Amino acid sequence: MITQGVGHVVALTFDDGPTPGVTDRLLDVLEHEHVHATFFVVGRAARSDPGMLRRMAADGDEIEDHSETHAHLNALLPAAIDHEIAAADAAIAAATGRHAHLLRPPFGARNAAVLDAAQRRGMRVVLWSVTGRAGEISSHAGEGAIVLLHDGDRGRGDAGELAYQAADVPQVIAMLRARGFRFVTLAELLHS
Ligand SMILES: [Zn+2]
Repeated sequence: MITQGVGHVVALTFDDGPTPGVTDRLLDVLEHEHVHATFFVVGRAARSDPGMLRRMAADGDEIEDHSETHAHLNALLPAAIDHEIAAADAAIAAATGRHAHLLRPPFGARNAAVLDAAQRRGMRVVLWSVTGRAGEISSHAGEGAIVLLHDGDRGRGDAGELAYQAADVPQVIAMLRARGFRFVTLAELLHS
């Protein structure tokens, strides 16, 4: 289980999207700032918006697995956990031709059955080291920090209360840049 990397770098990660009207604006910001990020997408949201995933991939962003329905995986039997992970991965692969390598379980729920399921698919489980509003992230992020933000609300499509964090991104980027951090994807962070 991974919560942090190494080096004077940070990885911005976004959960619970994609969300029309939120994720596309976020991608504009990331492109403008020349920042590559990692998106942990909800399968059913990804399936309804494959074009958004293709844009992420074309932009150089990384797309990973946040389950099909944003289920609390600790509450499921192994076959259902497998389905949640596999269905989201199938949505990612259908849109981009590339499979997920990382799983971030919704709510960070990772009992032994969840860890086993990830291992069966050859996926590593990634959590986060810092989250919150821009000021909290900027003051708490350390070397190799994995920053958790949200660009949606669990695939419901109504961009609920967590989507606001996408709007914090210009400030997060500016504050972390002022501290000298470079932005990397999780693949880059975990191989560094
Ligand atoms: Zn989530």
